[in-house]
Order: sequence, then structure tokens, then C-alpha cells
Amino acid sequence: MIIEAKEINGIIIPKHEVHLECAECGMEVDAEEYKSGTCSDCGAAWNGKKHTAIHVTSVPASGATS
Ligand SMILES: [Zn+2]
Repeated sequence: MIIEAKEINGIIIPKHEVHLECAECGMEVDAEEYKSGTCSDCGAAWNGKKHTAIHVTSVPASGATS
């Protein structure tokens, strides 16, 4: 799921994507499974692996292009 950029206590959290993975079967956990806490693929509580990828949305301007 994509987490939009937000500000918490004055700290900017950039937009990022969170991948939750079932520790039992390795399938990606979607938002519904996240809420239920149970993997619909194997029926286990999926708690275990979490991957977070930061999306760099602002690309710094490159130097002089002469
Ligand atoms: Zn599973």
C-alpha cells in the first residue's frame, strides 16, 4: 500500500510504499488482510515481515546543461 507524504510533529514523512509479507507463505499482505491480521492465503497470522520502500518524489535539478 502507498502511504502518502505527511507531517508528524514537524517531521516530514515522504511518500512511501509499505510491503507486508506473510511470514508463513511469503505472499504479500493486502490492506484487508492487514486489518484482519490474518493471511487469506494460508490462514496464518501474517505478522512477521515488513518491507518499506521510500519513494523519492523530488528529483534534484541536474547541473548546467551546456
Ligand atoms: Zn500466508
